[in-house]
Amino acid sequence: MTHTMIAATLDQLLAPFHRAGQQHYGEDVTQYAHGAQCAVMAQAAGAAPALVAAALLHDIGQLLDDAGAAAEHAGIDARHEHRGADLLARWFGAEVTEPVRLHVAAKRYLCAVDPAYQAGLSAASMRSLGLQGGPMDAEEQARFGAHPHAADALALRRWDDAAKDPQCTVPPLERWRPLLTSLLGVPDQP
Ligand code: FE
Repeated sequence: MTHTMIAATLDQLLAPFHRAGQQHYGEDVTQYAHGAQCAVMAQAAGAAPALVAAALLHDIGQLLDDAGAAAEHAGIDARHEHRGADLLARWFGAEVTEPVRLHVAAKRYLCAVDPAYQAGLSAASMRSLGLQGGPMDAEEQARFGAHPHAADALALRRWDDAAKDPQCTVPPLERWRPLLTSLLGVPDQP
């Protein structure tokens, strides 16, 4: 990919943050600050670049248009994790898309296996849990646990729940361009 093509791809990828990244979503942080805090935590934990990107981008499905937010407001699950993962599959492999796709399932899994986890959820997260199907039953837990990206999704979910600190300063959006570029996976062309 040429530099111009990379820049255009990143502009397209990050456009949802320019569109709606400064919105709040029932938490005390903006959508961008939330994703960036999540990515900073992933980095601090030594996560692979793909998982750091997944952390940054995990809620991108909530930023695509206002229809999803309106649906959730009306008590309908807009399945933002699938919208986000499907979008990201245009540019990234499964190590980015699947932790994103599974981050809501990871919440439902953790609520089932760890009562302390559920007790620690934010009010907004608790509200959406009901819409998302509530804690997993035993069969769903087994299916989730067998997924090759389950461990990454669980790690992402823990950062997701912690990445809601209104006092935390985060790096600007541009700071993530080199990391994202390294994952685009398209070989350089002369
Ligand atoms: Fe999130």
